Amino acid sequence: TYVLYNDSILDENDVAISYKDRGYHFGDGVYEVIRVYNGQYFTLDEHLTRLYESAKKIELEIPHSFEAFKTLLHDYKETLKTENGSIYVQITRGASDRNHLYTKEEKPVILGFEVKGKSVDTKQEQGVAAYVTEDVRWLRCDIKSLNLLGNVMAKRKAFDHDCEEAILYRESGVTEGSSSNLFLVNNETLYTHPANNLILNGITRQEILAIAKELKIGVIEEPFPKEVLLHADEAFITSTSLEIVPVHTFKGDIEATISVGTVTKKLQQALKEHVQKKTNA
Ligand code: PMP
Repeated sequence: TYVLYNDSILDENDVAISYKDRGYHFGDGVYEVIRVYNGQYFTLDEHLTRLYESAKKIELEIPHSFEAFKTLLHDYKETLKTENGSIYVQITRGASDRNHLYTKEEKPVILGFEVKGKSVDTKQEQGVAAYVTEDVRWLRCDIKSLNLLGNVMAKRKAFDHDCEEAILYRESGVTEGSSSNLFLVNNETLYTHPANNLILNGITRQEILAIAKELKIGVIEEPFPKEVLLHADEAFITSTSLEIVPVHTFKGDIEATISVGTVTKKLQQALKEHVQKKTNA
């Protein structure tokens, strides 16, 4: 297969990455996962905007203009001939002798490849179990950083308890999933954590907020204590790869069962239509 490496599209066997890359030493970099539907990128501008924002927040200057990066990603998708799939793209601060201190003279390294996910149809239809556990991550979860140890440890813990996702909470309330955002539905109103430093403002989350507005479904973006999970009418997680997946069971520090509800189904349907409309032009 082909790999995107800086401004070139290479055969995967021709990619040579320095052992000195700060991505390996420090997780010093940022990334995005972008969906392709019907041979077209979905919400590419939104993902690239977030990538540039994440990079700016860590003082990493992306060596391409926004438009040049977009062209590169389009060329890459054409080379891969992807019709439906996901493209992963990361940018690290580049190679340096191992030293916490970055000098701002490093040369950033871009790496992109296609990620093949399993079908999420059954999960979308039947829902999944989620493991409620403490959020022990840092306080800049708004940055889509390569440092994902807090997330990967939580995900493993969830799987060890037969759950698909970990739902994280702090003293201030429930934040998000280990690789998704969380929404609750109570009395036909959506509840989700506000987009501040404690969560990643998901592109799917943003699409759902826009769809809710169109459908005149009320939204409350405020933190809520984990005990609210005990009496939610409906709950669902969202991400680029999952789209909207209902949660039918909470385990761990909160235990509850919920049925897959009508608001969740309505939003799933609306999101699918929205994707078709935007990528079938
Ligand atoms: N929160 C976290 C921590 C994530 O890792 C992800 C997905 N990568 C999301 C939320 C969902 O973001 P998006 O909808 O942009 O995929």
